[in-house]
Amino acid sequence: MHDNELTFRDRPINMNERGGRKWVYAKKPSGKWYTRRTLVSWIFLLFIVVAPFIRLNGHPFILLDIANRKFIIFGAIFWAQDTFVLALLMLSFVLFIVLFTVTFGRLWCGWACPQTIFLEMVFRKIEFLIEGDYKQRYKLDNGSWTTEKIVKKTLKHVIFIMISLAMTNIFLMWFIGSERWFEIIKEPVSENISGIIIVLIISAFFYWVYSHFREQICTMVCPYGRMQGVLLDSKTIVVTYDYKRGEPRGAKNTGDCIDCHQCISVCPTGIDIRNGTQLECINCTACIDQCNKVMEVTGKPKGLIRFDSEAGIREGHKTIWNARNKAYSLVLLLLFSFFVYTLLTRPVVETTILRTPGLLFQENADNTISNVYNIKIVNKTHNEMALEMKVLSHNGKIQMAGNSMTIKDQDKFESTFILFIPKEDIKSDKTEIVFGIYNNGELLENYKTTFVGPQQ
Ligand code: SF4
Ligand code: SF4
Repeated sequence: MHDNELTFRDRPINMNERGGRKWVYAKKPSGKWYTRRTLVSWIFLLFIVVAPFIRLNGHPFILLDIANRKFIIFGAIFWAQDTFVLALLMLSFVLFIVLFTVTFGRLWCGWACPQTIFLEMVFRKIEFLIEGDYKQRYKLDNGSWTTEKIVKKTLKHVIFIMISLAMTNIFLMWFIGSERWFEIIKEPVSENISGIIIVLIISAFFYWVYSHFREQICTMVCPYGRMQGVLLDSKTIVVTYDYKRGEPRGAKNTGDCIDCHQCISVCPTGIDIRNGTQLECINCTACIDQCNKVMEVTGKPKGLIRFDSEAGIREGHKTIWNARNKAYSLVLLLLFSFFVYTLLTRPVVETTILRTPGLLFQENADNTISNVYNIKIVNKTHNEMALEMKVLSHNGKIQMAGNSMTIKDQDKFESTFILFIPKEDIKSDKTEIVFGIYNNGELLENYKTTFVGPQQ
C-alpha cells in the first residue's frame, strides 16, 4: 500500500514518522491545464518585473512608499489622509478574499500567488532543466558526489542565488521606485551599507525558501492556507477526485481509477487527492492533467480528477455552478465594481478646515462676524493646481493669509484665513458653513465646518 494511504491523516505527507523532512520529488507536469497556468504565470511575472519601470506622464505606475506614507496604485496616488478609502478598500478586499475562497477554493494559490509562481514557474523549471525529471533528481540527490552532481548542483544553486538577488531588487523597486534604485546603484557602497545588508538578508531568505523550504510555505506557514478548513465547504469548487466514478480503484476492479499513482507523483505537495480535499492542495491542476493522460490511455472519459465541488460529485450534477456560487460571484462582481468606483471617484484634493484653537468669534464694525480658520489642502494629483476657495452656504468673504493657493503636484498647502459673514445671516451660536474648493472654475470638493457666533 502506498505511504499516502497509511499516513495522510497522521502527519503531513512531506514529514517522516520521526517528524523530519521528507523531500517531495514531483514529476514534471504537462498538459492543457499546466499550459494555461504557465501562460497566466508569465503574465503575472511580467507584471511583477515590469510594473516598477512603467511611468504614466513621468510618474510611477506602482509605488508602495511606506517611509513617506505615499502609495501609487495603477497611477492613482494614495496618501496617509486617504486612510478611509484605503480602509474601505482593505475591508472589501478581505470580504472579496473570503467570498472568493468559499466559492472557488484555493484558486489563488495555484494560479496567482507569487510563492507558487516563483517556485513552480521559475525555480522548479530551472531545476527540471538542469537536474532532469523526478527520477533523475532522486538519483542525483541520493547518489555520491560525482563530477556531474557537483557541476549540476553548483550551476543550479548559482542560478538560484542570482534569481533571488534579482527578485529582491525588483521587490525593492516596488517600495522605493526604479529611479531611486538606479540612483542608489550609482552611489558609493559605503553610503548604503544598511540597505545592502537588508537586500542580502532578504535574498538569502528567498534562496532558502526556493531551494530548501519550498512547498512547506503553503502547507505549514501561509495563514491563508490554514484558513481553508473554515472557508471551504461541500459546495466550494476545488480540484477533486470523482470517487463515484473512480472507486473501487485498481486495474482489476470496476472503477475508472487504475491506482497508478500518477496523480501523486506529479503533485508538488506530494499528496494523494483521492483522499479528498486537503489543506496541502494548492489547486495547481497538475494531477488533473496527469490523470487525463491516464484516462486517454485506458480509454475512459477525462475528468476523473477535475474542478468540481464535493456536493456536485455526490449528487452527480452537470455544472459546477450552483445557486450559492452564482450569488457569491455576483457579490464579488459588485465588490470589484465598488473598488473601481471608489478609485475613480476619489477626490483629487483632500481639504481640512478647522477653527483656530483658542479663538472664538469677533464682531466687526462693518456689521459682520468673523471666525479664524486653519486650512490644509493636499494635492493628490501629478499636476500643479492654482486653487480657489468660495463660501457656498452663505454670503461670506474670505481673507486668506498670503495671496496664492497654488500647490505643486503631490504637495500640500497650509495657511490661515478669516471668514466674514453678515450678522443678519447668523441665526445661532453654531452655524454650518460649506466651502467649495475650485480648480480653474471646476468644483473639486465641498467641505463642511462650523461658524461660531453670539448666543441668540
Ligand atoms: S492518476 Fe487517475 S487513475 Fe491514476 S491513481 Fe490517480 S486518479 Fe487513479
Ligand atoms: S492534489 Fe492536484 S491540484 Fe492539489 S496540489 Fe496536488 S497536484 Fe496540485
